Amino acid sequence: MPSNEIHDLVIVGSGPAGLSAAVGAESEHIDTLVLDRKRRLGGQAGTSSLIENFPGFPDGVTGPELTSLMTDQALKFDTEFMAPVQIEGIESVNGLIALDSETGRFTGRAALLGCGVEYRPLRVRNLAAYLGRGVTYGSPNMNTVFEDRKIYVVGGANSAGQAAVHLSQYTDCTVEMLVRGQDPAEKMSGYLLDKIKERGNISVRTETEVVGVNGNKCLKELTLKTRGTEDTVPADELFILIGADPRTKWLPEDVVRDKLGFVVAGNNLPGETIEEFLEKHKRTPFAHETSRAGLFVAGDIRSGSIKRVASAVGDGMGVVPEIHQYLALGRN
Ligand SMILES: Cc1cc2nc3c(=O)[nH]c(=O)nc-3n(C[C@H](O)[C@H](O)[C@H](O)COP(=O)(O)OP(=O)(O)OC[C@H]3O[C@@H](n4cnc5c(N)ncnc54)[C@H](O)[C@@H]3O)c2cc1C
Repeated sequence: MPSNEIHDLVIVGSGPAGLSAAVGAESEHIDTLVLDRKRRLGGQAGTSSLIENFPGFPDGVTGPELTSLMTDQALKFDTEFMAPVQIEGIESVNGLIALDSETGRFTGRAALLGCGVEYRPLRVRNLAAYLGRGVTYGSPNMNTVFEDRKIYVVGGANSAGQAAVHLSQYTDCTVEMLVRGQDPAEKMSGYLLDKIKERGNISVRTETEVVGVNGNKCLKELTLKTRGTEDTVPADELFILIGADPRTKWLPEDVVRDKLGFVVAGNNLPGETIEEFLEKHKRTPFAHETSRAGLFVAGDIRSGSIKRVASAVGDGMGVVPEIHQYLALGRN
């Protein structure tokens, strides 16, 4: 529950960026509260079936395992967590940052946006009727066993490739990837393409879109359009991994975003914004500081960031010395 307590740092988002910032901040005695709109912590990374490019895990690590280790580490340093809490507004009040949710206000001397991105919706009529009934946004749940199923994965980037490879372990299932572009190599890492070629039960259908879904209570068939020709195929499962967008419309207008909605920080801010900032605060913004003093940003939501777990972790850790310096300014 919100309280009148003022934290040194309030972090919005418990993905890898928020969690690593919490570990870094609390280990430097910066009193930190982490808020997430989802009960299950860990962000997108927490949904990944196998992360194979995070340093230190040569055999890969599941997303839930990695992010729960990060959460445990943050807890060990006394980070406070509250979830589910969805932040819907930000206000600067007497040099503090107030974050508003339906349940009330949380206040920090500084705040960090680690809100990541959200799955892009697949716009097909009637799709919502089958959500949780054969249609899933994101990766398959690793605890679910799939037997003798016709599985489709929509998307042509790494997260779709990972899901297909994960599902192909159920050798009595067929997995078909539906890719809108001409060549999955446009967006997918080479190591995943190699695995997909190796697996006998994965096929890739390019230049294809899902245009219809049908069933009774559960998904039964998909209508696909490939290079202008439509056909209807039997389907038991549809996983949708077609990319993601930042959900930043709720931020106040003065928090500068790029044309895709990602939050801009530091030297990447427009020249006139930096000049206004300098005039108002007698300093230039820190590298991860937004156009609003004391409001920092890290991870996928930051304009120009690399959308990977390791880079989100690096970004979250990298923001801590800046927050330290920012807090010291206020104390002087
Ligand atoms: C299925 C899948 C597989 C992936 N596999 C890999 C991989 O193998 N290797 C790799 O490097 N990367 C992978 N990625 C990408 C990686 O997970 C992301 O780059 C990383 O999680 C970004 O971390 P983040 O902390 O910036 O944001 P996120 O992980 O997106 O976390 C953001 C958090 O903020 C919360 N939030 C958002 N808005 C609010 C709000 N208003 N109020 C409160 N809370 C809010 C969200 O609920 C979420 O928990 C994968 C992504 C997906 C979806």
